[in-house]
Amino acid sequence: MKQQLPDFFIKRLEQQYGKELLETIVAGFEKKRYTTLRVNTLKSNNQEIEEVLKDNNIEFEKANISDNAYILKNANEIQIQDLEIFNQGKIYLQSLSSMLPPIVLGPKENLDILDMAAAPGGKTTQMAAISNNKAHITACERNPIRAEKLKYNLEKQGASCVFCMVKDARDIDNFFSFDQILLDAPCSGSGTLDLENEKLGKYFTEGLIDKSVKTQKQLLNKAINILKKDSEMVYSTCSILQEENEEVIRNALKTGKVEVVPIDVTELGDLPILPTTIEGTLCLMPNEYFEGFFVAKLKKK
Ligand code: SAM
Repeated sequence: MKQQLPDFFIKRLEQQYGKELLETIVAGFEKKRYTTLRVNTLKSNNQEIEEVLKDNNIEFEKANISDNAYILKNANEIQIQDLEIFNQGKIYLQSLSSMLPPIVLGPKENLDILDMAAAPGGKTTQMAAISNNKAHITACERNPIRAEKLKYNLEKQGASCVFCMVKDARDIDNFFSFDQILLDAPCSGSGTLDLENEKLGKYFTEGLIDKSVKTQKQLLNKAINILKKDSEMVYSTCSILQEENEEVIRNALKTGKVEVVPIDVTELGDLPILPTTIEGTLCLMPNEYFEGFFVAKLKKK
């Protein structure tokens, strides 16, 4: 049975975005999202993947956000998982929204990069691929079981430039410093709620949001401490609530140590953009192509 979005969430969305946008957001949650994938350029290329998709009668179109992102029109994740290209790590099933933070960060060869909350590794392996395995990536994950999944994915995707650290990122020693940081923070998941999930009302609670905000602020504070001066980082969540997004960023801006670097969306195609209360940050609403997501780029002064 289809679930309703919880009342407290509807109220917060209406307060934050107004009645009209609330309706569009709710309609977005009710749409079925297309399966999307990223071609793993460490192991394959677009031509090989397009041929395999055609041979399997899978209709696809390219997504504008990246040359390696594909939208599948008539296949679900389970069907894709049966293909050799999936088992060989030549593709990675990844939502389009979730591909944005690494694209916005732009991982560079030879730089020391920290992925602070990394499992299962979608964005870590994407950063390894963008840098052609030439960046020095440290992937941190607190949960040991999720860290195992991360290691499995790194191996499968051939992301050999990644060192894995099973640790609470809040405890990373301030002695370390990084040229680029991705903080894809643990969040309430308010942008990716699944109305088919009968447990929705049980796990998606105001308590979860409060707990997430606390951890997000602590993690961002740590990220700022270990980011090198004049270097950039990306903060992202799969939430569309301002508490977990702009408020966390505002809290960081108050320290006076970082500034917002405006995200240039002109090359990312047609995005379902939600207004944000901090200029230059990006929030997407859920629709048939995108999950609800937030991305902000910060520079250490
Ligand atoms: N970046 C991942 C990807 O693209 O595949 C998804 C990350 S998920 C949003 C957040 C992850 O952070 C979870 O795996 C969670 O276990 C981990 N996490 C939560 N608190 C953490 C902490 N204090 N330190 C490190 N990892 C943490």
